Amino acid sequence: MQIKLNSLPLSQERTILGLSKDELHSFVLGLETHHKRASMRVNQIWSWIYCHGVSSFSDMTNIDKNLRSKLQKFLNISRPTIEKKEVSNDGTTKYLFCLEDQTKIETVFIPEEKRSTLCISSQVGCTLNCSFCHTGTQKLVRNLTSQEIVGQVIAVYDDLDLWKKMKSEGGQSSHFEIITNIVFMGMGEPLLNYEEVKKACGILMDNKGLDFSRRRITLSTAGIVPKIKIAHEEIGCMIAVSLHATENKTRDILVPINKKWNLEQLLGSLRDDVKLRNSERVTFEYVMLDGVNDTKEDAHRLVRLLQGLPSKINLIPFNNWTGSQYKRSSSDRIKAFRDIIIKSRLPSPIRRPRGEDIMAACGQLKSNSLKKKQVYEEN
Ligand code: SAH
Repeated sequence: MQIKLNSLPLSQERTILGLSKDELHSFVLGLETHHKRASMRVNQIWSWIYCHGVSSFSDMTNIDKNLRSKLQKFLNISRPTIEKKEVSNDGTTKYLFCLEDQTKIETVFIPEEKRSTLCISSQVGCTLNCSFCHTGTQKLVRNLTSQEIVGQVIAVYDDLDLWKKMKSEGGQSSHFEIITNIVFMGMGEPLLNYEEVKKACGILMDNKGLDFSRRRITLSTAGIVPKIKIAHEEIGCMIAVSLHATENKTRDILVPINKKWNLEQLLGSLRDDVKLRNSERVTFEYVMLDGVNDTKEDAHRLVRLLQGLPSKINLIPFNNWTGSQYKRSSSDRIKAFRDIIIKSRLPSPIRRPRGEDIMAACGQLKSNSLKKKQVYEEN
């Protein structure tokens, strides 16, 4: 079956990033009808794009000129535009990307000693309205396409010159030294944009391209329960769950999707439906909010709730933003909380806030340009 470009969603028209290999293959078959040759061309194009980072078909020197010019006529390899880049004192780098329809998203690069994580967005804004999250206060919301999701990764590779590093060190795996992990913890709820996220993960994980293994991609969800099992089975990546409370009455306020799928349903499904693979754990994120969810009773309840479920708990000191009603728990309180969890033999690292000086820490993302636009519209 041949793919017609005009059958793609409008926003993906003419862009090649974000097309699955099968889609690309169908498309190339329309230009090069010989099956074997078409497959070879797809592999070449894929390698140019995802191993060498070329952004123009004219650089694909092992593809004949005739085909190159046809490809050029129908497709482009454009990336989201970097509108602003801020580098924090600790090296964390926040990118503000401008998309084709002028909406903005943020992506954060977090270098550490042994790993470097790219935190990417799955939606413009977010519909979930978690009361402690800055992104939730942004009104404009739409799903990102797979092209826009993959585009964030490609644009950061371009900006940090990671392609050259990949080539000069001569190996597929050398780029892992630079971006080792990808987490869907930027703007948006990935499981409310499941099909595009899944497609993007397929591209990021392709072993003839960027080659991120399933263990190096983490999908973080506020708890879209029926989709967790499906994502774990179909994408195979790691799952993180934003838990944040140990009682429904508190979680209803912090993470309102809890009113639809409560703690019992969430944890029940993780226990019964999600088939964890060897040594795999579910990561639980728990934001430490002063006087809200940070008592010793909470810690004990948390341990009881997670009994029998292979888990790891990331304690996240609350990252403040102007207008928020919450305060970060004191470090003594966080440590006391952690000690109770550790006694139960659950790993429980306290996450060091990164990039706070540039508002790049967890839950601080919200594109300013949109905020301005809103103010303008409201006036
Ligand atoms: N919607 C997804 C992914 C985006 S948020 C989810 O809810 O998991 C990524 C993580 O940052 C979530 O655990 C979220 O609860 C947390 N977070 C949001 N705002 C925060 C803040 N102000 N301080 C600390 N963590 C926050």
